Amino acid sequence: PDLFAGSRFAVLGLGRNGAAVVSALLGMGAEVQAWDDKSSGSGLAAHPRLMVEPFDSLAGFDALILSPGIPHTLPTPHPVALMARELGIPILSDAELLYRAVRAAGSKARFASITGTNGKSTTTALLAHILQTAGLPAAAGGNLGNAALSLPLLPDDGVYVIEMSSYMLERLDQFHASCAVLLNLTPDHLDRHGDMAGYARAKAHVFDNMTSADLALFGTPGPEMQNVADAVAARGIQPVWLPEPVDGRIVARGATLADLSNAPALPGAHNAQNVAAAALMAVHCDAAPDSIASGIARFPGLSHRQKVVARHRGVTFIDDSKATNADAAERALSCYDRIIWIAGGMAKSGGIAPLATYFPRIAHALLIGRDAPMLAETLAAHGVAHTVVGTLEAAVPEADRLAQALDAPVVLLSPACASFDQFSSFEERGSRFLHHVDNLIETDGSEI
Ligand code: ADP
Repeated sequence: PDLFAGSRFAVLGLGRNGAAVVSALLGMGAEVQAWDDKSSGSGLAAHPRLMVEPFDSLAGFDALILSPGIPHTLPTPHPVALMARELGIPILSDAELLYRAVRAAGSKARFASITGTNGKSTTTALLAHILQTAGLPAAAGGNLGNAALSLPLLPDDGVYVIEMSSYMLERLDQFHASCAVLLNLTPDHLDRHGDMAGYARAKAHVFDNMTSADLALFGTPGPEMQNVADAVAARGIQPVWLPEPVDGRIVARGATLADLSNAPALPGAHNAQNVAAAALMAVHCDAAPDSIASGIARFPGLSHRQKVVARHRGVTFIDDSKATNADAAERALSCYDRIIWIAGGMAKSGGIAPLATYFPRIAHALLIGRDAPMLAETLAAHGVAHTVVGTLEAAVPEADRLAQALDAPVVLLSPACASFDQFSSFEERGSRFLHHVDNLIETDGSEI
């Protein structure tokens, strides 16, 4: 329906998200002017209500929608964002527009917001999966996956599960989540937010407009977390801290919501937090407890995040290509023992030295990419068996051979490095891993 007929929107930034927003807005009857400083908007299909031109003025526009990567705050706001400020034109994220469109369409569908430094995508996908298992209409999108505004209109019992980056959170207005979680806050994106306090302030917007009937969830305790929780409490909303697992179970209000030993795709303490968040939000959205348990048990996992991609000759092959720094690799290394570890690429400052506690879990390391020699030095200094193999293609068959020879149960790709020296993205690196594992299995002719 023409929910935005008569409205005029300015869209700056025409990557995947921006392009999706333009087409959704046109589909809802809006007039749109769109521009991208780099691509000149050439990828957009012509439309009678679309103008592709740089912005001389924003006079007469209802809102400016900026791509997530474009700054609107100090130290270097984009000139178009400054123009919007001067004219008092709101700068909105597409999650805000989705919220307005859903309400304008008369749907009472609820919103669940998920933010934090780590675990957003996993928790978002898991909650949507649980709700769908419970038979509730659910749609997930936002920071990862589909642009929020391109999600379908849901009926009154539906739930939109939105992964919120801090950039999206700073551009909300009326958006009202009936449940929201702030999973954790660790130094990240500080370039953009100045300091931890500024970063926490941005994340705190996830609880904006909530009332005492809503569920405000908090994960890893810490001083900044506590500040946000105190501010929420001051508005009359009881902050709820995520329960720690007890004997491998997530228990809340006297009921067992999840049995972590029955969650094969969600290993480790970090995932216990994601499970707790998704389970409590699912309860709030009226999912039945037994469907929550089975939704968690049957969650397939997200690609490239400790994803089991094959079992071959008794060895489990795991793709954790998303681990682009030592911190993320630590999470995976902590979950297994006697690991054949494939690592390397473009190391972050500090390399893999912070992982030394986990080195005893490594049966043999296979190093790839630009910084393999540097990683080899660290491993040698700690007496960890390793080989510089250079490429993923060479690493996979060698990992298979070593796993058999050393009776190691796990081959883990968790590079602790960026991928750009050899791949276009961590996704491509993970897909190549899968490809080489498939080849191996085919060559051997044995079962998965
Ligand atoms: P995000 O979307 O916030 O980047 P993901 O769900 O994609 O988070 O997980 C990315 C990586 O972060 C995972 O591979 C894992 O190493 C780590 N991680 C996942 N969940 C958590 C958590 N709750 N706390 C800390 N680290 C986590």
